[in-house]
Amino acid sequence: MTVRLRYAPSPTGHLHIGGARTALFNYLYARHCGGAFILRIEDTDIDRHVDAAAEEFAQNLRWLGIEWDEGVFQGGPHAPYSCMERLPIYARYVQELKDKGLAYECFCTEDELAEAANAQVQAGEMPHYSGRCRHLSESERDAFRAQGRTPTIRLRVPDAHTVTFTDLVRGPLSFDSRSTGGDYRIVKSNGIPVYNFAVVVDDHLMEITHVIRGEEHISNTPRQLYVYEAFGWEAPRFGHVSLILGENGKKLSKRDESIVQFIEQYKELGYLPQAIFNFLALLGWSPEGEQELLGHDELIQQFDLNRLSKSGAYFDAAKLSWMNAQYLRAHDLDDLAGLAKPYLMRCVETAPWTKADSWQRELVALYQDQLTCLSELPEAARAFLSVDVEWSSEARACLRTETGALVAGQFTEMLRQLSDPITPDSARELLKSLGQKTGTKGKDLYFPVRAIATGELHGKDLNRTLALLGHSLLYARAQAALAFVSESE
Ligand code: GLU
Repeated sequence: MTVRLRYAPSPTGHLHIGGARTALFNYLYARHCGGAFILRIEDTDIDRHVDAAAEEFAQNLRWLGIEWDEGVFQGGPHAPYSCMERLPIYARYVQELKDKGLAYECFCTEDELAEAANAQVQAGEMPHYSGRCRHLSESERDAFRAQGRTPTIRLRVPDAHTVTFTDLVRGPLSFDSRSTGGDYRIVKSNGIPVYNFAVVVDDHLMEITHVIRGEEHISNTPRQLYVYEAFGWEAPRFGHVSLILGENGKKLSKRDESIVQFIEQYKELGYLPQAIFNFLALLGWSPEGEQELLGHDELIQQFDLNRLSKSGAYFDAAKLSWMNAQYLRAHDLDDLAGLAKPYLMRCVETAPWTKADSWQRELVALYQDQLTCLSELPEAARAFLSVDVEWSSEARACLRTETGALVAGQFTEMLRQLSDPITPDSARELLKSLGQKTGTKGKDLYFPVRAIATGELHGKDLNRTLALLGHSLLYARAQAALAFVSESE
């Protein structure tokens, strides 16, 4: 059997880490089995529809490295792939159920339904549809229409009926029709089918074999199974993956601002998609061994449904930062420099030397092993990205010492006389002769130089730092430092 899986987001906002994880699990399993992965947009909830959300989903999925074989923005044999373009298809199937007496028009108003539900709750019952419109005659329906009521359409769910399925994650589950609310609306009064109906028609027509989705959809599954039964269709296998938990161990709330939750935000922060891909794959699934850093192909090879976890998946933001740092270190430098460019270009106006590609590449090389995400670069490398530098109190104290002032004075003089550009090699020679001229070495030599160059006593490789700052910036800083030292004397 060729497996076919899909991710079917509703375009109601940005791509959330939970949605991205669902997409990823479906994608990984489809690829693992050599099957197909489909992207479908479930946009029947027109009140919550957000323009351009589908485009953003698609862009973010592609950014993560999740490609689909069929679907929106791609096409395929089952097009169209967004629900609102499939309304005529649903209408045909609704008609089929009506013709078979398995669906019917319901004229109950919201108030009447609420009243009936209240009465049931008072009587200690689970709220369920009373079946009031199940057996309306043609003339009763006409009378309701004459009152200006617009019907919804309900699926006739057999009374006292139990559906059972074996969840790929949770094992056998069963639900009875009372607990699921009895006959339910498959078409709203605006004529648009509800998710629980459209999803079945689409999954059936698109020959979906496995549905992996969040635990919050478990309660939808029996309602979908009633539709499969009504048509006599075989249902796909369902697997409901565990909730994502926040740091407090409770279900992660989209409003919890202590955790970055949208893929778009990670993109802006300069996370690498490969790291997020890896991290999300381990959020509720684990490989057989202990290895945590797993690339795209390794994950495809190892992913299976047996190792999906039943218990909640704790979102460990520190682990994601660690993982991203590992990916940044291992990343191709030229590519990384390209990714860092947007962050560095923000400094170009005030620090024009930062514009050159080769300069940016060197800067990124210097900081590659220190960053957890690329947006940290401007702050981490601030001494390189502006004309002025702020001296830390340690740097000030160092420049005020006798040796500090001596080294600073001599260093400035050497810079004044220097005409060649500084390279890491020439910087080494420069420091050697500075040491000789001032009779200093070790910290006595390097601390004042570093203080002048960066305003700090500690930092990255000093030779590369001096080369990257360049002669004129260093000279200007040295003069400023000298002036500052003499002022404070
Ligand atoms: N549109 C649903 C959602 O965004 C998809 C549910 C499903 O996969 O069946 O959660």
